[in-house]
Amino acid sequence: MVTLCDRCGVREAKYLKASSGEKLCLNCLFNTIEDTVARTVRRFRLITSGDRVGIAVSGGKDSLVLMYLLGKLRRLGRIPKDTVLIAFSIDEGQPYSCVRRANSMDYVAKLTEEFNIEYKVFRFSELFGVTAFDIAQGLWGKGVNTHMCTICGVMRRRAMNIVGRMLNLTKIATGHNLDDEAQTVLLNVTGNDVKRFAWFGATPSNDVAEEEFIPRIKPLRFIREEEVALYAYYHGIPLMTIECPFVYNNPRYELKFTLARWERDNPNVKYSMVSFGDEVSKMVNERFKGQVKLNKCIHCGFPTSGSVCRVCELLKQAGLLERYINHIRPVNTQQGA
Ligand code: SF4
Ligand code: ZN
Repeated sequence: MVTLCDRCGVREAKYLKASSGEKLCLNCLFNTIEDTVARTVRRFRLITSGDRVGIAVSGGKDSLVLMYLLGKLRRLGRIPKDTVLIAFSIDEGQPYSCVRRANSMDYVAKLTEEFNIEYKVFRFSELFGVTAFDIAQGLWGKGVNTHMCTICGVMRRRAMNIVGRMLNLTKIATGHNLDDEAQTVLLNVTGNDVKRFAWFGATPSNDVAEEEFIPRIKPLRFIREEEVALYAYYHGIPLMTIECPFVYNNPRYELKFTLARWERDNPNVKYSMVSFGDEVSKMVNERFKGQVKLNKCIHCGFPTSGSVCRVCELLKQAGLLERYINHIRPVNTQQGA
């Protein structure tokens, strides 16, 4: 016997949305996803009229679904029609960089045309004068056991701010989904790092510590990873077929399985964790309001809470600080920094 969709009552139900108990056809599931993203953008004012929004495209399903959805929602007027969308990828310069593993570049080109979205690629080598692989070699050669994901992460965050300034962006949208956000909460809790909650949350103001930091927005943060994957699959959005080998040692990797186990007993656990994280974020921001004094890094001039920023710290350890500073100096001079 065919079970009909709880929403439309017409088509066959294909997906059990365990958090609400609803049985949905694929059509209604995809409408729910689009509605949730549009509502998240509206509720948290993630995008407002006149925004220039950068879309960080790794080539993985999340960022491609994000690019597709923002293009579609803008066309439908569900986000302001005058929003400028500019997609960009960052090549970290290690053999397994997302953009090198992705088999989706033709698809990205298709989206740029279909939705009138500009697209650009930036490389660590151009932005920093060094690649993630150079940094890893420098660190590991000196016996410093820094994980490749940490190198990618620290440098990519900086790269996004530089790209944001170059493209005159007012926001940068990333493809973080509900699972990513729940993992972040768990990492902050297990790492006993309450201050990190200051950067958690949906609203751009949580991420703005300094004018040079471009606010990040996460329109997919209430969509489960499984739902993003289904949306991608049925919309012909290519899935990445090669995993980065470094991911297996990333602390987030194990948390995926932990959360999946918890979710079996409590289908709402990821939503609860994100909502908990949002509340803690508000309290932490309130508690430390005005107390975080930002200085300029003594080497590169970027804002930092100490005297040396995390990028310069990492590059110094890797023996590459001078190379980096020599690379960025002409840029800084041009910008009058
Ligand atoms: Fe970089 Fe880690 Fe992603 Fe691999 S899994 S591309 S090392 S962040
Ligand atoms: Zn610095």
